[in-house]
Amino acid sequence: MIGVYGGTFNPVHYGHLRTALEVSELFRLDELRLIPCRIPAHRDQPTVSGEMRLHMLQLAIADTPGLLADRRELDRDGPSYMLDTLQSLRQELGAERSILLFVGADAFAGLTQWHQYRRLFDYAHIVVMTRPGFDHPVLAEGFRQRLFDRPGGLQSRAAGGLFFQTVTLLDISATRIRAIIAAGRSPQFLLPPQVLAFIRQHQLYRNHPLTTGN
Ligand code: ATP
Repeated sequence: MIGVYGGTFNPVHYGHLRTALEVSELFRLDELRLIPCRIPAHRDQPTVSGEMRLHMLQLAIADTPGLLADRRELDRDGPSYMLDTLQSLRQELGAERSILLFVGADAFAGLTQWHQYRRLFDYAHIVVMTRPGFDHPVLAEGFRQRLFDRPGGLQSRAAGGLFFQTVTLLDISATRIRAIIAAGRSPQFLLPPQVLAFIRQHQLYRNHPLTTGN
């Protein structure tokens, strides 16, 4: 089984990395592709180039076998639609292999806003990463009929299922890291030291507007 973990990664942090490692172990993935988006389809433009966000990701996972940085969205014109990404992976991997698309509970809550979201299930299963004790939300019929209550079902078909998986969700966000740096404070211990060294070397996020929220 192949995993897909998309995001802005602006910058990558331990919240992403811990969950990525956990799901790759839990589902015994052959590999988990972390895929930075070029132009996020659903949100403000990132302040740091795709190449730099990819580079920080590569620094973060360099010593972790099974986690791979995948640059396909950076090489594609236009908005980074997950549907296009899954289609291209499916072409590469063939019809038989299971593809698991991992999304956080926050991302899943907005899934119906994604480009042609129903078609995502033609190419992959969706696994929602939730915190312990969290019960999944009331699901619309289109989702409920896809729900597996055991992960084994995800292996029996290549795509089309929905599963909720408990993981360790660290309370870290890239927004918060950018705000900490912009305020002249240190984000040490929220992200890998190699990533922090790169941010310092290139003086990233120092003039970032102090974003509200988390
Ligand atoms: P920002 O604060 O800029 O919105 P972010 O930290 O939320 O960024 P993204 O790159 O937008 O990170 O997220 C990519 C994916 O990682 C999403 O599926 C999101 O749900 C998940 N994610 C983000 N933060 C965490 C975290 N602390 N723990 C687990 N998953 C996370």
